[in-house]
Amino acid sequence: MKPRIFVTRPLPAAALNLLASRCEVAVHPADMALKPAQLAEACREVEGLLVVGVRVNEEVLGQAGKLRVVANCGVGYDNIDVDACTRRKIVVTNTPGVLTDATADLAFALLLAVARRVVEADKFVREGRWQRWEFGMMWGAEVHHQTLALYGFGRIGQAMARRGQGCSMRILYHSRRRADESIERQFAAQYVDRETLLRESDFLSLHVPLTPETHHLIGAHELSLMKPTAFLINTARGKVVDEEALVAALKSKTIAGAGLDVFEHEPHLHPELEKLDNVVLLPHVGSATGETRLKMAMLAAENLLAALDGRQPPNVVNPEVYG
Ligand code: NAP
Repeated sequence: MKPRIFVTRPLPAAALNLLASRCEVAVHPADMALKPAQLAEACREVEGLLVVGVRVNEEVLGQAGKLRVVANCGVGYDNIDVDACTRRKIVVTNTPGVLTDATADLAFALLLAVARRVVEADKFVREGRWQRWEFGMMWGAEVHHQTLALYGFGRIGQAMARRGQGCSMRILYHSRRRADESIERQFAAQYVDRETLLRESDFLSLHVPLTPETHHLIGAHELSLMKPTAFLINTARGKVVDEEALVAALKSKTIAGAGLDVFEHEPHLHPELEKLDNVVLLPHVGSATGETRLKMAMLAAENLLAALDGRQPPNVVNPEVYG
């Protein structure tokens, strides 16, 4: 008998067909997050769960006595209680690598957009406010030859460094551990301590996962160390930044602006954010291209099938379950 699995949102047909070739598949038909109670109900009899943007917590796992694998369609897995899965010997997987370039593209798009006031200028034209060309109109900040400071220097951080190199930027980074010398040479990236990173950045771009250690990594103190001409770019996770402190820093011009794809309580924004001209706001679309989303779905499906087959999937987050 085929194992039963549950997929929390509609996925590209190729991924669903792959799953259906080996499993009995149920798919939540709406592209919206299930609440834990609804997910728990859907998980009672399933052996595999493919999750996209939903929370998998004790409430869900407590009901899912047959569950053997939770395959996350995304690289960040802060939506899953991994420790609780590990205690139950449930394999957790994610989709690293396939979304690296798309997310770095978006982070760089945010950087350019906020520095050169792209969104503000577009609005200015659309609203019919452009009556004549002026020499002093819409001056923005330079990007080329400025300092790009990367907090987190893994896959996406390094891909961001490559984009910065293309604009002749000086690359600084801080991460949990220093990268190999060969990697530093490849990206002309210099390792610095946290404070130097903040003080010297013209663009501070965040690329750490959300963990208890990175929660509110950037708060009032960190923002106060940055230059008043500097910009913050966040495509990591909203909770990495203390949003209240960020809004205060943007309003008081402690920093010049921010480009944000992620928010502390998304999809709810801090009420002051949308009133500010010096921010660009996106609805968590870092990996949102057709090609990338297809690769993510396929990789999540492959991970799930491998685990159900009793093979170790390529992207296991909690290898301890294999002893
Ligand atoms: P990654 O390759 O694992 O890189 C994360 C980097 O952060 C690693 O260098 C890691 O160090 C470092 N790090 C971890 N904890 C740290 C800490 N406490 N202090 C300093 N550095 C720390 O992950 P990735 O593929 O680049 O993805 C990064 C994050 O981007 C994901 O976790 C996800 O939340 C986010 N993301 C968002 C979107 C979006 O749609 N906006 C899309 C994709 C990803 P080690 O090398 O020591 O582990």
